[in-house]
Amino acid sequence: MARYTGAVCRLCRREGCKLYLKGDRCYSDKCSVKNREYAPGQHGKARKKLSNYGIQLREKQKARRYYGVLEGQFAHYFEMAEKREGITGENLLSILESRFDNVIYRLGFGMSRAEARQLVRHGHFTVNGKKVNIPSYLLSVGDVITIKEKSRSSEKIKAVLESTSGKAIPKWLDLNRDTLEAKVIAVPAKEDVDLDIAEHLIVELYSK
Ligand code: SF4
Repeated sequence: MARYTGAVCRLCRREGCKLYLKGDRCYSDKCSVKNREYAPGQHGKARKKLSNYGIQLREKQKARRYYGVLEGQFAHYFEMAEKREGITGENLLSILESRFDNVIYRLGFGMSRAEARQLVRHGHFTVNGKKVNIPSYLLSVGDVITIKEKSRSSEKIKAVLESTSGKAIPKWLDLNRDTLEAKVIAVPAKEDVDLDIAEHLIVELYSK
């Protein structure tokens, strides 16, 4: 399935909640979820009662859209989560959080996950001293992430760092704001995920 390239605010309106896909705008009065509290499209205002399957499907779509992951890759993450020890739903969240583009966003090196993904693709970051430009790269405990020396003078990167300077960093990541070097110090746990995802519904969906 191809990546969605339409208006991203429609995705939030479809899920009925903020997915934070547009950086600063998501925290402003311009947010479409706040201004138009109904689903997009001709029948968006009609209230529909969802079946159990519908509820589970919407939860999966919401999680997929938060992280910008395609259908096949999401199913692959679910398989990985099932194989890991522990609770499958929580493992799934942990895997999604460990994606390189998400970590870049969490560190405030990108204003949104979409922007973080683009900056990763453009090769602005290194992991353990080596350039990594794969947004889906999964980070592990001990990995060290930095902004490439050359990229630090980029106006784009400077503007992002300035506007995210007050951002709270999750406790499983350690960021030195002076050296712009970060380290993964723990496996992200469910309580570290500040997103409105009922992961048990996704497990129920895939267990059918
Ligand atoms: Fe979603 Fe952000 Fe658009 Fe609001 S501004 S609808 S949170 S993408």
